[in-house]
Amino acid sequence: MGVAGIVTETIPKILDPLPGGRHLVNGIEFIVGWARANSLWPLVYGTACCAMEMMATGASRHDWARFGVEVARATPRQADLIVLAGTIVEKMGNNLVTLYQQMPGPKYVIAMGSCSISGGPFYYDSYSIVRGGDRLIPVDVYVPGCPPRPEALLYGIMHLQKLIRKEGRHNPWKVKEFETPPCIDIHSNSKKEWVEIETQKQAGMTTARERFKAENPDYVPYKAVRRPKDKFPEVPRRPVVQSGLANQDIYAIVHEVFPEVKQVKQENTDAENDKKLTSETLLEFAVTKDHYLSLLTLLKTHATLQMDLLLQVTAIDQHDFFHILVHLLSTRHGHKIFVRCPVAGEQPEIETLSHLYRGAEWHEREVYDLFGIIFRGHPDLRRLFLKEDFPGHPLRKNFKDPSRIVKRPY
Ligand code: SF4
Repeated sequence: MGVAGIVTETIPKILDPLPGGRHLVNGIEFIVGWARANSLWPLVYGTACCAMEMMATGASRHDWARFGVEVARATPRQADLIVLAGTIVEKMGNNLVTLYQQMPGPKYVIAMGSCSISGGPFYYDSYSIVRGGDRLIPVDVYVPGCPPRPEALLYGIMHLQKLIRKEGRHNPWKVKEFETPPCIDIHSNSKKEWVEIETQKQAGMTTARERFKAENPDYVPYKAVRRPKDKFPEVPRRPVVQSGLANQDIYAIVHEVFPEVKQVKQENTDAENDKKLTSETLLEFAVTKDHYLSLLTLLKTHATLQMDLLLQVTAIDQHDFFHILVHLLSTRHGHKIFVRCPVAGEQPEIETLSHLYRGAEWHEREVYDLFGIIFRGHPDLRRLFLKEDFPGHPLRKNFKDPSRIVKRPY
């Protein structure tokens, strides 16, 4: 039995039978509860927009340190409160349970916002959402809202503190009979004082107002004259100024090496077509799988084009096949290009770009995870967002999983 055990188990057993001993034990118990309630150390668990409100609650304006909520750290060590601030997804579920188990007891949980209470706006049509933190760990206080304001979270913390002050020494997780704490309710008293001061101020002002009216019977209070709104002539929209190389020049360079590559939705590759390219045209090359890698290598390494930044690799499910979509930018010149490549089959495959652009590694893992497209030569093709044993690829149009997805009833 540790020191805590001696205090909570042995001493009460000795003191309880003595005359007045129970009061002493209750007093100790109250002090323990009071200390525990006023020194809640949170484990940071902000996963979505609610986390912003939680951070605001900790910042200087609202300052949850006033309530003894201090030392917010990203570790369960010494934490006794976890505020679930944001959406909880399935992949995160096990980690959340582990974190909760690693926290020393007694420990408390506040579910902040509708996502952590019930899945929130993602309750329907979602393949990855845990519909409420209490499906994983026990929640003590629910703070509703989307997101709740810092005042609401503070109210939730104060409510949790009330619950903690009511806990018994033998089982801190069990709420026992409510005992009015023998403390001064500072908040109510200061509120009363504040109301009194404000009432006195108002009374003084009423007298002053009446005196002013009696001394200035002709006084007419100033009323601001509303100015009619100015009417401005319509400003014509300026044409888009293209940054970087002109679309026609980029097209000419690409066309010289890959004569079969054409602009998406372009019917043929006639030289006439490039004349139609204006600065407002979105330059998007349609390329076959055979030329995918060589075209992207050209775009990156060409001395004039210098498409050195990969903005995104994503995919579109077109029912019968998928489109791989690559978005590139030249940081030197500023021009942008899309490249679109069709891939087909139940397990479609394409070359990886990760040796050309390091950033492609992450994007391709995402496409693999959500669409099931294999990137040949990828150094680490694993799922990114979903668990390894997730059945199927949820962004495919034929994806069905009734055990996870709750359909909207309307
Ligand atoms: S409850 Fe609303 S604000 Fe909070 S994480 Fe969910 S969507 Fe964002």
